[in-house]
Amino acid sequence: MLNKVLIANRGEIALRILRACRELDIGTVAVHSTADRDLKHVRLADESVCIGGPRSNESYLNVPALIAAAELTDSSAIHPGYGFLSENPDFAERVEESGFIFIGPTAESIRMMGDKVTAKETMRAAGVPCVPGSEGALTDDPDENHRLARDIGYPVIIKAAGGGGGRGMRVVHTEAHLHHAIEMTKSEAGAAFGNPEVYMEKFLEHPRHIEVQMLSDGQGNAIHLGERDCSMQRRHQKVIEEAPAPGITAEQRAEIGAVCVAACKRMNYRGAGTFEFLYENGEFYFIEMNTRLQVEHPVTEMVTGIDLVKEQLAIAAGIPLQLTQDQVEFRGHAVECRINAEDPATFAPSPGKITNLHFPGGLGVRVDSHIYNGYSVPPFYDSMIGKLITHAGDREAAIRRMHGALEEMLVDGIKTNIPLHRELMMDANFIAGGMDIHFLHKRLGIS
Ligand code: ADP
Repeated sequence: MLNKVLIANRGEIALRILRACRELDIGTVAVHSTADRDLKHVRLADESVCIGGPRSNESYLNVPALIAAAELTDSSAIHPGYGFLSENPDFAERVEESGFIFIGPTAESIRMMGDKVTAKETMRAAGVPCVPGSEGALTDDPDENHRLARDIGYPVIIKAAGGGGGRGMRVVHTEAHLHHAIEMTKSEAGAAFGNPEVYMEKFLEHPRHIEVQMLSDGQGNAIHLGERDCSMQRRHQKVIEEAPAPGITAEQRAEIGAVCVAACKRMNYRGAGTFEFLYENGEFYFIEMNTRLQVEHPVTEMVTGIDLVKEQLAIAAGIPLQLTQDQVEFRGHAVECRINAEDPATFAPSPGKITNLHFPGGLGVRVDSHIYNGYSVPPFYDSMIGKLITHAGDREAAIRRMHGALEEMLVDGIKTNIPLHRELMMDANFIAGGMDIHFLHKRLGIS
């Protein structure tokens, strides 16, 4: 096993990684900004290093400071968590060049999946179903682009190869707007991502977001851990996730899972990863691969009983995958609510001091959170302060359990989106299941 892991992240995920390391008897190093001295995992880690100022680019994105902290503490590996540097191939490269293990895929894999044109080409070649669209980047030839869009059929969506976080996309409904939309998206993409390449896809009007969790050891073994439904989104940010996805049959799961397993083996992918799909009319369409642990990983852990972070640590240590596909069983249903420090109506961030806190508990209730009584939520980072996860025998029971847990949970001193989650757990459409990615916007009255 690994000797000492430096956790290059903050908040709930840093604590989550620390917990897994402790169970495996791996030493832990917390790195933190000057605003994060009081984080839970900083207090619990074996060692801690302050790596810079409160703003992310001074600390959690500060590569030289992170490498220096790893050297100073004689760490053996670095876990990037999610967000920050987790999908930055240059960081993965620097980590390995400096003699540390990067807990994640090779820089090459991250780079390949970070460019959506290359990612799609790779997936298409591996037999993964993709959204119909241009093969590769668009050219500057307007006639050719018009022909392509006509063949695909309007509406189409123009997407930046280097895009991310729901940015760099433009929907086009008619031919008259196509050329301008391509030019605009190109120039925006060049400015925002340093890569003006764009590609075209059929715009699916009522898709669900369904993703498949993978574990692959880079030594020829790969398995899937089933799917998650993350269709409940606001501005491309997931709000509620669940596993399994309502209405997906065991046959569909096995089929799409096998396709993803074959793709991982073909890429010789190393680590945990997620294939994201849009799902419409019974078909899966690949949109992108996330080459890291995801926020919503606990719902998969609850239904499979497999600790994804421990698996990541084992893979990073070079231990071949011990699990076979046959050993992966799916039990019951899990739901996750992301708890954000924000106004439940306006969504404005609500940092500040937590004056009173009570977490729910009981059978099948899990709280992944770093907050505690008296903790001050700093204004510098993402507003997510934790995740509430419930697991029960079936979906209805998991939702009821979530409703009860939300009723029990108390966070005073700041505003949170708990009231919104409570409402959603009673919403007839949500309870029915299988809503598309536009449902939450409509429900909230945002266009
Ligand atoms: P990002 O990396 O920015 O998250 P994605 O390719 O994952 O980009 O797309 C983000 C979101 O944009 C999707 O979850 C979906 O809501 C929407 N989207 C992307 N491609 C399409 C498409 N072809 N049809 C309909 N919606 C799409």
